[in-house]
Amino acid sequence: MLDKPTTKNMIDTPVAERMPREIAPGVFWIGDCLVQRHKGKEYHGYNAAFLVSGNDASILVETGHPKDFPVIERHLNALFARGVAPLKYLFVTHQETPHCGGLGRILKTFPDSLLVGDVSDYHLAFPQYEHRMRPMLEGDEIDLGGRSLMAVEPVIRDLRTTWWGFDTKERVLFPGDGFAYSHYHEDGHCGLVAEEAVSLDLPDVSSTFADLALFWTKFADMNVYCDRLDHLIARLNVKTIAPTHGLPITDVQATVPKVQEGLKAAALKPEAGTNEKVSAVAAE
Ligand SMILES: [Zn+2]
Ligand SMILES: [Zn+2]
Repeated sequence: MLDKPTTKNMIDTPVAERMPREIAPGVFWIGDCLVQRHKGKEYHGYNAAFLVSGNDASILVETGHPKDFPVIERHLNALFARGVAPLKYLFVTHQETPHCGGLGRILKTFPDSLLVGDVSDYHLAFPQYEHRMRPMLEGDEIDLGGRSLMAVEPVIRDLRTTWWGFDTKERVLFPGDGFAYSHYHEDGHCGLVAEEAVSLDLPDVSSTFADLALFWTKFADMNVYCDRLDHLIARLNVKTIAPTHGLPITDVQATVPKVQEGLKAAALKPEAGTNEKVSAVAAE
C-alpha cells in the first residue's frame, strides 16, 4: 500500500523529487523540507501538504510553506494527470504561514476550489475570494464521494482557531501542529514515515519542536492533553497520522507514546528560546 521510496541515493535526491507519496489509499503526501539550525545542528522540518482524493473531488489539507508553492503545484498536477479527482476544496488547520501561506495562490490556480475550515480573517487578505470561503465547525464533513473530510477537535494546537482534519474512509488524522518534530537529512529521514526512520529519536525531536514552537506546553499539564489525545485517537479509530511538520505515523500504537513522551519531557523544562541567536557581545 505504501509507495516505499527507493533507498538508493535517497540522501542525494531532494524529497521534492521523490513526492508524491501515498501514505494511505487515496491520501498523498506532497511538499518539501525546510532547513533550520538549532544548537549547531541542521534540522529539517516538514511543511507538508496532503491531498485526499474521493471519487468525485479532492481536498488539499494545508498549502505548504510559501517557498514550496512551485513544488506543491507540480505534485498536484502530477496527481491530477494520473486521474486523481479534481481539486474542489482547500482545508488549512490554522492561520500560520507554513500551513496557509499558499492559500491565495491555490485559490487563484484552482478557480473552482473552495476554502473550508476556520476561515476567520482570510477575507481581509483575499477579499476577491470571500465568496469561496465556507466555515466549518467540529463534526462538519466535506463529502468527496466515498469518503469525507471532517473537522475534529484540535487537542495539541498552535492557535485558538485551529481545526484538525480527519479522513473518514482510511481514518487518517491531519493534526496540523500536533505530532510536530524535526528530522535529519544526513540520516536519510527525508520522505520516510516515522516507523521507517529508525535512527530518529522521536522523544528528543518532539520535545525540541514543542520547546521552539508551542510555548503553551510549558504552562500546561501535558498528561491531561496526552490523555485527551488518546481519547480522540480511540474515538475516531485513527489508523494513520499525517502531521504537517513531523513524519507521517503509520503505527499509531507504537509511535504515538514516543511523541507524547517528548511533549511531557519538554513541559518540565524551562523554555530554551527560539532559533539560534548570536549573543549581543559576539555580534558587536
Ligand atoms: Zn506549524
Ligand atoms: Zn528533510
